[in-house]
Amino acid sequence: MKSRLAPLFACLLAASCAGPGSSTSNNGRPDEWGHRPGPQGFDTVIIDAGHGGKDPGAVSRATGQKEKDLALDTAKRLQRQLGGRVKTRLMRSDDRFIELDDRASRASGKGGTILVSLHYNSSSSGIRGPETYYWRVDSHGLATRFQRAMAAVSPAESGNRGLVRRRLRLTRNPDIPCVLLELGYLSNAAEAKLCADPAYRDKMAAAIARAILDQQAKGDAGTGPLPRPINAPPSRPTDPAGS
Ligand SMILES: [Zn+2]
Repeated sequence: MKSRLAPLFACLLAASCAGPGSSTSNNGRPDEWGHRPGPQGFDTVIIDAGHGGKDPGAVSRATGQKEKDLALDTAKRLQRQLGGRVKTRLMRSDDRFIELDDRASRASGKGGTILVSLHYNSSSSGIRGPETYYWRVDSHGLATRFQRAMAAVSPAESGNRGLVRRRLRLTRNPDIPCVLLELGYLSNAAEAKLCADPAYRDKMAAAIARAILDQQAKGDAGTGPLPRPINAPPSRPTDPAGS
C-alpha cells in the first residue's frame, strides 16, 4: 500500500497485522505466546484477504489493479483449492473494511484453527518475489512451507527476504498459528502483470493449499529447527517500523 514510510514496509505496516507453551505439537489450540511446535491435524483454516473497502492496499501502476481485489480473489481461489479437505472460513467475502485488531480478535480463541492472511506488496519498482511473514514459534513450520510453495511458482524471489520473522498485528496478536503472505510486488511491472493473470493466482492458491495440507498431515516435519522464543508485547498501530 502507498505510504510515506519506507516503501518496503509500507504494505506490512498497513497490515501490522498473540508465555511459553508445551513442547508437543499444538493442534492449533489457542495459546497467547505460541512458544511451541507448529500445528498438526488442525481442522479449520481462516483465510484473511488483506485490506478491503476504504483501504485498497497497494495499487499497481502497470495494471491498475488493487491489492484488496487481488487478495479477495486469491482467498476465494485458496478456499476452492482446499476443496473441503479442511474447513475454511473467509475473514471477508466481499469488498469491506475490517480493522486489523478485529481480524486478530476474530481469529483468536478458536481450537484446531490456523490463520493465513493474503497480501500483495509494494516497494521500489526493481523488487519482486513472494515473501512470508511470521512471528510465533508455532507458525514457523507453516511459514516455511508457504514460502517454499510460493517460491516454486514464482519466477523470482526477493533476495534473502523470502521468510521474515516480524511482529505484526496478524503475526503476533492472534492466539493461534498465523502467517501473513505477500504473494508478489504490484510495484514491479512484470510481477504486477503476472499477478493480474487469474491462472497465475490459481497456481499460487494451489501451492498455498498444498502447504496447508502438508502441515496438517506432517506438522513441522521437514521444515527445519524451530526459531527461538521471543517474549514481546502484542503489536500496536503505534509501533515503529519493522519492530
Ligand atoms: Zn497488504
